[in-house]
Amino acid sequence: MPDKSTSSEPATVATPETPAKPVKIYPIVKYGDPILEKPGAAIKKFDAEMEQLVEDMFASMYAAQGVGLAAPQIGLSLRLTVIDVTGGKNPEAKIVLANPEIIHAEGEVREEEGCLSIPGFRGYVIRPQFVTVKAQNAKGESYEIRGENLLARAFCHEIDHLNGVLFLQHLSMLKRDLIKRKIKKLRKQGEW
Ligand SMILES: [Zn+2]
Repeated sequence: MPDKSTSSEPATVATPETPAKPVKIYPIVKYGDPILEKPGAAIKKFDAEMEQLVEDMFASMYAAQGVGLAAPQIGLSLRLTVIDVTGGKNPEAKIVLANPEIIHAEGEVREEEGCLSIPGFRGYVIRPQFVTVKAQNAKGESYEIRGENLLARAFCHEIDHLNGVLFLQHLSMLKRDLIKRKIKKLRKQGEW
C-alpha cells in the first residue's frame, strides 16, 4: 500500500473555498527525518510562488487537522510557518509568519502539546502565556502580532520548528525517551 507520508509528489486538489485555484496538499514529514532537526533558511523572495506556497501550506495544515504547520514539516527548510488556531473557521485567524522572531514573552502555562510530525504522541510543555512575534507576511511586509494561551503556544511551537527544535526537546528525559522508543518500535513494524 502506498504510504502518502513518503510520497514526494504532492497531490493536487481543489478545495471548496478556492474552486478556481488548485492547491497542493503536501504530505507531512514525520519525526526521524533530519530536515525536522535543522534550522531553516531565511525567506528572501516574496513573490507569487511564495504566496502560492503559503496557500498550499494552509490547505495542507487543514487537511491534517493541525493548528500550525512549519515549512520543514513539508520538506522545505525555510523560515516560514502558517497558524490558524480556529481550524479554518475564521478566515481572519489565518496567520503567516515568515522569518519570525519572538520579541517578548511573559508568564507560564503548562499544557499538553502535540505535533503533526509526531502523530499519536503528546506531552506537557511549559510555554509563555503571552508572546509577541515580529515577522513578515506573505507579501514581505513586517508586522508584529501578540498571542495568548493556545496562540502563544502555537507561535513558540512553530518557531521552534524553524530552529530545528521539536516539542520532544521540552519534555523530561524520561518521557522523551519513552516516546522515542515507541516510535522506534513503530518504525520497525513499518508503521511510522
Ligand atoms: Zn510541530
